[in-house]
Amino acid sequence: MSAKVIGRFAPTPSGFLHPGNLLCAILAYLSVRARGGQCLLRIEDLDKARCPRTLVTQCLSDLDFLGFRWDGPILYQSERTAQYERAFRHLQDLGQVYPCFCSRAQLHVSQAPNRGDTLYIYPGTCRFLAPAEVEARMLLKAPAYRLRVPDQSITVTDRIQGSFTTNLAENPGDFIVRRADHVYAYHLAVVVDDAESGVTEVVRGCDILSATPCQIFLQQLLGLPTPEYAHIPLLVDANGTRLAKRSQAISLSSLSRRFSREEIIGTLAFAAGLIPEVQPCTLEALIPHFDLTRVPRTDLRLPTRFLTDSSGS
Ligand code: GLU
Repeated sequence: MSAKVIGRFAPTPSGFLHPGNLLCAILAYLSVRARGGQCLLRIEDLDKARCPRTLVTQCLSDLDFLGFRWDGPILYQSERTAQYERAFRHLQDLGQVYPCFCSRAQLHVSQAPNRGDTLYIYPGTCRFLAPAEVEARMLLKAPAYRLRVPDQSITVTDRIQGSFTTNLAENPGDFIVRRADHVYAYHLAVVVDDAESGVTEVVRGCDILSATPCQIFLQQLLGLPTPEYAHIPLLVDANGTRLAKRSQAISLSSLSRRFSREEIIGTLAFAAGLIPEVQPCTLEALIPHFDLTRVPRTDLRLPTRFLTDSSGS
């Protein structure tokens, strides 16, 4: 008998859920449910200032409205600092992290990599500081901590996107694992959480594909298993513009004033190629015929009626 499939949906509630997040939730959920597995919910509220309680509550009620039923307790990253601390200490013991005093540090923080559009490669400025220099700087400024990455290629074998290889030294270079204000970085938290929850498959937006080798490298250092990955294409409008950029206008809260839950699910299922035409349907109805390999690799176009916000919000 094959081992149990455990998947998860891991939103960052720094804004309202939008159709791109929902599609991700739907595909992650169906992928495990179709194989009798468990689907967990993890709230990635590492950065409490960016993820206020009101947005967390809204996110939970939006998911509930759509009919998601999660297995196990909801995990909140904001409550798991001790676990991240342990992993960080392990990396320190391996001699794999170093303090970084660069002000750019604040840019590459606990957020998922999809928040910025341009690739930033850390030039290694603080990598070779002498111990005395580090000590002197410590007195003036709390450092962030970066992970020393090797000049080595890492390949992700993705169930939707195929094979993706990157050299960590070139993308993204030494990356931050702990911010100067002690907030742990997204990459570190995600690998610790996935491993502890026994996650066997990760279904998420393909804007994170290029950063996945960073997570695989962390898993290798920390002795954690690598789950299966499936990075789903992004939702775009008729002009090919990413929907995340217009998230406010088409948040689930605004969509649910205009469409029923079945219409929302049916429209997204159609956009992902799961059903042949737009028709109302439930998550349950999509489970029996679900096949992740049918999801296309390229951008998915959302029907225009979803994009015209007539609610005035
Ligand atoms: N929290 C990330 C986001 O909302 C997703 C992280 C993941 O699924 O690994 O974009």
